[in-house]
Amino acid sequence: MPILVVGSVALDSVQTPFGEAERVVGGSAVFFSAAASLFGPVRVVGVVGEDYPLEKLEFLAERGVDLSGIEQAEGESFFWAGRYSHDLNSRDTLETRLGVFADFRPRVPEGFRDSSCVFLGNIDPVLQLEVLDQVTSPRVVACDTMNYWIEGNPDALLELLKKVDILLVNDAEARQLAGDHNLLRAARWIQEHGPEIVVVKMGEHGATLYGPDWMFFVPGFPLEVIFDPTGAGDAFAGGFMGHLAAAASFGLDDYKRAMVYGSVMGSFAVESFSIDRFHSLDEHDILKRLMQFKEMTAFEHRI
Ligand code: AMP
Repeated sequence: MPILVVGSVALDSVQTPFGEAERVVGGSAVFFSAAASLFGPVRVVGVVGEDYPLEKLEFLAERGVDLSGIEQAEGESFFWAGRYSHDLNSRDTLETRLGVFADFRPRVPEGFRDSSCVFLGNIDPVLQLEVLDQVTSPRVVACDTMNYWIEGNPDALLELLKKVDILLVNDAEARQLAGDHNLLRAARWIQEHGPEIVVVKMGEHGATLYGPDWMFFVPGFPLEVIFDPTGAGDAFAGGFMGHLAAAASFGLDDYKRAMVYGSVMGSFAVESFSIDRFHSLDEHDILKRLMQFKEMTAFEHRI
């Protein structure tokens, strides 16, 4: 099943303890597509300004990402600048400039409207709703958000949640959204407001899936060098949704595998700046890391 994604198509300036990157390609839709396209076809809706180096996304097109839903408008591309703490577990947003996203009215191309799998990547919830309204009969709708929109547009976000099956957020966002410091209670609060499945990402500490009456936890893949955590959450979502769409099945085991694929793809994203690691990544690398996960987490129980 092809996945339709809307989200930021951004230029990022990032500072980590290991170095700096200036105005490199990023954004939720870009990191998501870079990961999900290794599982199956992806269709992107978004907007960039005249300053965007679209040629940097060409390798994604070669890999089955349909970029025809990305408009190029007059003005500046979405810009985000962030700085990571020494342990890379927290970051400060130094600047967010919406640029062409401020006046963007998404138009989902005719050929994308029948998408059965939809990922509403992190962007204004009003735009996420507008995209969803143009899709005819999605089988599964997943969404992400962040503090910027939880604070900036909570009403639209709550409206959106009613129409979403899966919410993927990080731990701080789950706490903020629910107004509860306890993650289990926060996940239950979110479920009461719409999504049956809540995935809470916790950076290097892994991720937990809260289902209606079951849970599943996956660790973060242990890496000696974490270079730049930007986009790990979106790459996680790309692996997670990529697997579900490829399986075209939404049972317990599909979700469990999707969690592992999510963690695998998140771990690749942090190995370099921007989407650089995805240029050379292939199915073999993914499978190898998946098998390492299996070895690290499987055990025989004995009473
Ligand atoms: P992640 O590290 O997975 O949370 O996502 C990082 C990406 O999110 C960066 O490439 C940014 O361009 C993008 N981003 C940052 N702030 C926002 C925002 N308020 N809305 C949409 N995308 C954002």
